[in-house]
Amino acid sequence: MGILDRSPATTRPDAVGREDDPRPPVVRLDGVSHEYQLAGGRFRSGPARSLQALRDVSIDIRSGTVVGVEGPSGSGKSTLLHAVAGLLVPTTGTVSLLGIELSELGDRRRAQVRRRHVGIVFQGFHLLPSLSARANVALPLVGEGVGRATRRKRATELLEAVGLGDRTTHLPGELSGGERQRVAIARALVTDPDVIVADEPTGELDSKTGAKVLELLTSLGEQRVVLLASHDAATLSVADRRITLHDGQVVERDR
Ligand code: ADP
Ligand code: MG
Repeated sequence: MGILDRSPATTRPDAVGREDDPRPPVVRLDGVSHEYQLAGGRFRSGPARSLQALRDVSIDIRSGTVVGVEGPSGSGKSTLLHAVAGLLVPTTGTVSLLGIELSELGDRRRAQVRRRHVGIVFQGFHLLPSLSARANVALPLVGEGVGRATRRKRATELLEAVGLGDRTTHLPGELSGGERQRVAIARALVTDPDVIVADEPTGELDSKTGAKVLELLTSLGEQRVVLLASHDAATLSVADRRITLHDGQVVERDR
C-alpha cells in the first residue's frame, strides 16, 4: 500500500460514495450565503457596503468524489472553497465536515478541525521561500505532536510519491512551476486529510504538467473528497461531479 493510499479503517470501500451510505457526507453545505463587508464608502458615515459572494448554496459530497467547481472569475469559487476549508465562516447557513458543524465552533477549534481534516492547495502555491521542499511539506505537522524525525520521514515519502524524491532539499525558487505545485499538493496531504481543496491547481502550469498534477489529484480523490475550482475545461473534465456558479449561485450541477 502506497503512502498516498488511506488505511482501510478510515475508508470502507463497500460503502464509499454510495447514496445509501449511512455515514454523514464528508462535506455538507446547507443554505450557505456569504456577504463580504467592504470598507465604508468615500465618507465613513456613508452607507455600509457589502458584496454577496455566495447565495444559498447547498451540497452534500461523499467520500471518493472529485467535485469540479466552475464559473467565471468572481463567481464565488474561491469563497466556496474557503468556506469548506473553514477559512471563513459564511454569513448564513452551515458547513459541516464529517458531521462536525464548523459554524458552531470557535476560531481555535475550527482551525484544529481544518488542520486535521482538510488539505489546502492555494492558488499560487503559498510555499515559504526560505524553507526546503521537505520542510515546506512537513510544516503542517509542526505543533501537532509529531516528532522531527517522523515529520522528515513522512515529508520525504510524500515528495517521493509526487515524483520529487530528488528535490527534497531544493528551495521553492529552485523548482519549476509544476514542481512547486506538486510540493504544495504533498504539503496538503501530509496530515492525511479527508478533504482536499485545490484552487485553480493547474492555473500556472503548461498543459502537460497540468495533466500530471490532475492525475495525482484524481488518484487522491478515490478515497477522499477533492474540491477543484477552475475555469479550465480540461481541468474540470477529471471531476466526478460538477457545480457551476454564477454570481455566487449554483446554476447547474450534476446529480
Ligand atoms: P472566484 O474565485 O470565482 O473568482 P471569489 O470567490 O474570489 O470568486 O470572489 C467572489 C466575489 O467576492 C467577487 O466579486 C470578489 O470580488 C468578492 N471578494 C472576494 N474576496 C473578497 C474579500 N476578501 N472582500 C471583499 N470581496 C471579496
Ligand atoms: Mg478564485
